[in-house]
Amino acid sequence: MKKLALHWKIIIGMVLGVIWALVSSSMGWSQFTIDWIDPFGTIFINLLKLIAVPLVLFSIISGVANIGDPASLGRMGGKTLGIYLLTTIMAIALGLLLVNSFKPGKLIDEQSRIDNRISYEIWADSQGYEVKDGINYLKNPDFFERAQEISKLSNNDLQEASVADKMKTVKSRRETTPLQPLVDIVPSNFFYSLSNNGLMLQIIFFAVFFGVCLLFISKAKSKPVLNLVDGVNEVFLKMVDIVMQAAPFFVFALLAGVVSKMAGNDVGKVIEIFKGLGWYSLVVLVGLLLMIFVIYPLILKTFVKKIPYTGFFKSMSPAQTLAFSTSSSAATLPVTMECVEQNLGVNKKISSFVLPIGATVNMDGTSLYQAVAVIFLAQMHMIDLTVGQQITVVLTATLASIGSAAVPSAGLVMLIIVLDSVGLNPAWIAIIFPVDRILDMFRTVVNVTGDATVCSIIADGENMLDYKEKASPTETFDLDS
Ligand code: ASP
Repeated sequence: MKKLALHWKIIIGMVLGVIWALVSSSMGWSQFTIDWIDPFGTIFINLLKLIAVPLVLFSIISGVANIGDPASLGRMGGKTLGIYLLTTIMAIALGLLLVNSFKPGKLIDEQSRIDNRISYEIWADSQGYEVKDGINYLKNPDFFERAQEISKLSNNDLQEASVADKMKTVKSRRETTPLQPLVDIVPSNFFYSLSNNGLMLQIIFFAVFFGVCLLFISKAKSKPVLNLVDGVNEVFLKMVDIVMQAAPFFVFALLAGVVSKMAGNDVGKVIEIFKGLGWYSLVVLVGLLLMIFVIYPLILKTFVKKIPYTGFFKSMSPAQTLAFSTSSSAATLPVTMECVEQNLGVNKKISSFVLPIGATVNMDGTSLYQAVAVIFLAQMHMIDLTVGQQITVVLTATLASIGSAAVPSAGLVMLIIVLDSVGLNPAWIAIIFPVDRILDMFRTVVNVTGDATVCSIIADGENMLDYKEKASPTETFDLDS
């Protein structure tokens, strides 16, 4: 009998996970699911992340050193970063276009928006911001009563531990010099960077530096080092193969956990959450799906003629389904690399350099979502952002997506910076928090698909793309192959 492709098994795992969560929630077993099933999802993400950090290190060193000469490395590095930046800006532009056309924030009833606006003005006043074209609510007789009510509400939101926590992290980051992001890239202790998954940019810096230096020492000395690096890389890839065999089960546990945490013992809650934020979620989703199914294929068709539409998706489906279920492009990286190398036919020299960098700095889905979220939140508070402010959103969303760690919910944390850049209240992330985990799954698929698209373009430009139609893309993960 023909074996079922891995991505189908993963999809079945996901569907069963959601069904299990819904059934267990209606039977009142949510706590059981969270206690006894969800931990397997965490184990899965831990395993993948465990592999991702050393894989980034060793694959970049080998990628850089195998390129051969520093000049072509410089050219390729520039091209990679340039194209990554372009796709990010395109994604943000698409997000802005959609949110300004559909105006999901204005579909909320007028009274709530007025109330929101009042609470915003109170907040802005407390921050010393001047609210332009503000409505004079002091003339409104029940202003104080309503204001009190609203400030109580937003206090409650603020008290949400997780939100407050996130704000603290970002605040402490903000209170440094403008060059801090640059300073943060250079590690003072490499072993500390290795021990902290959020410091991927430092690991990349070290790996590129190490790889470049390997190019400058004698062949006799560099050869054994490179052989070791390549060998270690192979071991980590084998680990991915083994972990992936159990992926359908792990994914079942992941999804069961995510949905159970949302629903508790009341399935209706999930539906309620989505009703309130439905239009916003829909606009984000439309944008993300357009990126996956229209924009990237168009870019590929224009720049890489070799890869057909269905061939691309068939090749990338294991990575895409995994990105969806783990919400982490770092955890998905090992599988993304296998798909791009084995199924799309990108030479290892290119993928081992372009993909790890992409997983860290190129997050088109995250930046699109941040643009939509900021404008949506402004709209629901009756605030029209000017063109200048929207350009600020483009810039900060680009930087925020570069700075976002490739782990679940990182985009939400960085949204605080984008809100702050245009004078909006960062605590508003609490409003979209309930649907964030689900949208995170979709934006991670975009992040991973974007990396693979750019990687194919670079590989084709360097004549290092050898795409061949395959019967089943998932042969990659056969243990005995
Ligand atoms: N989860 C996303 C990723 O890993 C980042 C984010 O948008 O939260 O790619």
